[in-house]
Amino acid sequence: MNDKYVLAIDQGTTSSRAIVFDHKGTIVSVGQKEHEQIFPRAGWVEHDPKEIWANVRSVVADALSKAELNSGNIAAVGITNQRETTVVWDKNTGEPVYNAIVWQDTRTAKIVEELGGGDQNKYKDRVGLPLATYFCGPKVKWILDNVDGAREKAEAGDLVMGTMDTWVLWNMTGGTNGGIHVTDVTNASRTMLMDLKTLDWDEEIAKDMTIPMSMLPEIKSSAEVYGDGRPQGMLPGVPIAGILGDQQAATFGQACFEVGMAKNTYGTGNFMLINTGEEVVPSENGLLTTVCYKIGDKPAIYALEGSIAVTGSLVQWLRDNLKMFDSAPEVEQLAATVEDNGGAYFVPAFSGLFAPYWKADARGALVGLTRYVNRGHIARAVLEATAFQTREVLDAMEADSGVELAELKVDGGMTANETLMQFQADMLGVDVVRPVVAETTALGAAYAAGIAVGYWQGEQDVIDNWAEDKRWTPSMDEDERERLYRNWKKAVTRTFDWVD
Ligand code: ADP
Repeated sequence: MNDKYVLAIDQGTTSSRAIVFDHKGTIVSVGQKEHEQIFPRAGWVEHDPKEIWANVRSVVADALSKAELNSGNIAAVGITNQRETTVVWDKNTGEPVYNAIVWQDTRTAKIVEELGGGDQNKYKDRVGLPLATYFCGPKVKWILDNVDGAREKAEAGDLVMGTMDTWVLWNMTGGTNGGIHVTDVTNASRTMLMDLKTLDWDEEIAKDMTIPMSMLPEIKSSAEVYGDGRPQGMLPGVPIAGILGDQQAATFGQACFEVGMAKNTYGTGNFMLINTGEEVVPSENGLLTTVCYKIGDKPAIYALEGSIAVTGSLVQWLRDNLKMFDSAPEVEQLAATVEDNGGAYFVPAFSGLFAPYWKADARGALVGLTRYVNRGHIARAVLEATAFQTREVLDAMEADSGVELAELKVDGGMTANETLMQFQADMLGVDVVRPVVAETTALGAAYAAGIAVGYWQGEQDVIDNWAEDKRWTPSMDEDERERLYRNWKKAVTRTFDWVD
């Protein structure tokens, strides 16, 4: 079987990718396609699920043809996905009743407030999450409340919901011709509907959110054979055997298998996860408790997570909305035209603030401005914003877990930015380490699927294949680090209470 390959489908926020990996965990080929970001109103973000499914098919075909492979060469398929993004569709027709509502979308602010009745942590003991617009349950409720006829159809048992893993899997395994309706524990742990300890749906919360139980997929582990590719599809008979939400997949791909091991992914947003083993650790400091992974029948492994909504997407905003440069990597050249931030701090609370604040009514602020500040300083402040937000999350993580990190493993698109990575090491005071295979998200999903079918034996293979590419060591003196961080904290307070 070692001469075969494993295919990972990474259905991300901005694009869908298909990556073929060999037995050493090396990338053989990649297919990638962006999809439209739909912004119908301020604070709303949608994707077209049918465009995404079409893109998934096309990138899989692309990755296979670039590697000159066909489905017979693929031992298993793993799926990883942008988490929380929610789609509701008619199981008889395969038609979504509404666009997918994306994780960054804040339209459910009111629903969330009403559900909590003044207590943001109403369900936290059970689901590990504060009430926030980020998670799926309130998005499903919004669709049922606002799309004509949806509630009636849902109550008649015709509508189902899913995160993008479930949508892709259902279509891959047959759609209206017998597609399976399944998700994994990591994705389920982001719905606000799953009890973290029982790993089953919490009927009471579903009832509070007026979501019929018949809409919910079956919850499975992250590594087992869920089903095979449909006979007429591009991967007929190939077992689909791994599902992990993107951040959990990256944690898996980074080989964070021991308690206290952590990784930070720098993409559209930033997501730091620390493995807490078989223990469900509640957070006192604004982090989420989530399922990290579950391999087949083995016990679930949990994590604490610090989610930051806006990091790389702030660079995109400079590019697209302010036209400050043509491509994201150019932010580094612009930042290099100055020595420091010139006193400017940019708090990108575009989707409110996630960890550790969870404030839906925060909005972005650029503060500390004088006539001295130029484009370079703003570019610098934009990069620093990612590093400051990461420091806040790391502080919360150390407080919650009692573990002091020795180093931080990083991955994601923004880790190509050396200026940012050095500043990150300076701001944290620990080494920042990037692996050779930066596509850890896809890699993690591939490993889960490969382990499920015996292509890889287990976690040790992942550990053996992991290799360091580059390490950044702190060089800033401590007074300077703390001065900058103090200013950042002050800047954050300027973003609160912006929405009436
Ligand atoms: P995702 O998986 O969330 O779509 P990626 O890991 O592909 O994201 O990272 C893309 C993000 O990283 C984009 O938001 C982009 O603006 C940012 N980015 C990419 N390259 C750089 C760079 N060299 N410097 C700063 N930001 C970058």
